[in-house]
Amino acid sequence: MKLSFHGADRAVTGSCHLVECAGVRLLIDCGLVQGSRESEQRNREAFGFDATAVDFVLLTHAHLDHCGRLPLLAKRGFRGEIVATAATRELARVVMLDAAHLQEEEVRRNLRRIPQRRAQEREAAFDTEPLYTVLDALNCLDRFGRAAAYGEAIELAPGVRVTFYDAGHILGSASLFLELQEHDRRQTLAFSGDLGNRGRPLLRSPVVPPRSHIAVMETTYGDRLHKAIAPSIEELFEAISGAFARGGNVVIPTFALERAQEVLWCLRQGHEQGRLPALMQVFLDSPMAISATQIFEHHPECFEPHVASQFGAGKDPFALPGLHFTRDATDSIAINRFRSGAVILAGAGMCNGGRVRHHLRQNLWRESCAIIFVGYAARGTLARRIIEGAKSVHIFEEEIRVRASIHTINGFSAHADRDELLDWHRHVRPERTFLVHGEEDVMQAFAPLLHDTRIEMPEFGQSCEI
Ligand SMILES: [Zn+2]
Ligand SMILES: [Zn+2]
Repeated sequence: MKLSFHGADRAVTGSCHLVECAGVRLLIDCGLVQGSRESEQRNREAFGFDATAVDFVLLTHAHLDHCGRLPLLAKRGFRGEIVATAATRELARVVMLDAAHLQEEEVRRNLRRIPQRRAQEREAAFDTEPLYTVLDALNCLDRFGRAAAYGEAIELAPGVRVTFYDAGHILGSASLFLELQEHDRRQTLAFSGDLGNRGRPLLRSPVVPPRSHIAVMETTYGDRLHKAIAPSIEELFEAISGAFARGGNVVIPTFALERAQEVLWCLRQGHEQGRLPALMQVFLDSPMAISATQIFEHHPECFEPHVASQFGAGKDPFALPGLHFTRDATDSIAINRFRSGAVILAGAGMCNGGRVRHHLRQNLWRESCAIIFVGYAARGTLARRIIEGAKSVHIFEEEIRVRASIHTINGFSAHADRDELLDWHRHVRPERTFLVHGEEDVMQAFAPLLHDTRIEMPEFGQSCEI
């Protein structure tokens, strides 16, 4: 039996791990590397395994850093089965098609910028081929097979079973429990996937898989504790009221899955309780977040009971007066007319693409405005530079001064914090622990807190006998 590492090794994005047992090859996630242009070049390199030889992909959840290289896997010859929960499958479809579309768009835009006759210059400046196309993403959708239900074991092949457990991270997210047998050797593995934190407004809290010999666990926030959600909601309301009082707008760079819906839910609460101005205009300016919100409405089974019961009673927990869904680019541009009193939720959460960059160009230089970060920002991204206090940033090749007030509210994090990760590890009680999905200094701080286990921090491409 073998376990090898092909992404999110001493880094947060690009999750991809391979398990080989009894002649069966299982890939756990196949995510996109995100961050600086140089690190994103990694996506174009070889996987480090033969795509045509992979039998199954077990997809933990629909974030791009977990599903974003699946169309590439299909393009490179994968013909096996992708197993995921029903909600993950629906969300991953939107996420992968959106990614393919953006990549095609970007290549087209770049090709227009530098004319054909300067071919060499073009090659040097950017990629002239998308990583994958919409057609590749559609072909990949055909590979989705069985839908996993939480807590029910699936027999993938003789000696290979998997059970999905609710990871409480985003809709449909899962931790995996693998039971393997090769000849008379038995082994159990727990893959944390991305773990959610407890007490979130919409989702259920994570369920820990059974005790396992081996754990492969995320460490995104292994070095810090989150604030509780209640003070974070207060902070959100204060930041919005402050910007409105100064005559400005609020921009919230938002991850389309989960965070957008959580923030909407909080804004609705604030509105109902009279904590936010009645005339507030809220724009959900992200076609993907709009689609994801609709998918949420199909899956009340994933929610905390009090939220699920609102759906059951025909109430939409995300509806709010003054809420606008802007799918079309022209409606998005029209938001520029609002100089004050608007809350603009737009992707991408790390500001490395998407419509949020237009809104930052409009609002970042205005002292009256507020930019509120509610999620993780990887090294090398625009969001990270602003959070770390850059005085000015480049957006669309223009230098923009940072004068708006900048808020980082981490209680909305979709990730477990240090103590929640430790708690998860204490319940799984593995003999051997592989730390992944974290920056190296965070892992170094987290590792000494784990007891009675052999700890490893695999390098990219590393392979271990298990
Ligand atoms: Zn995630
Ligand atoms: Zn992740």
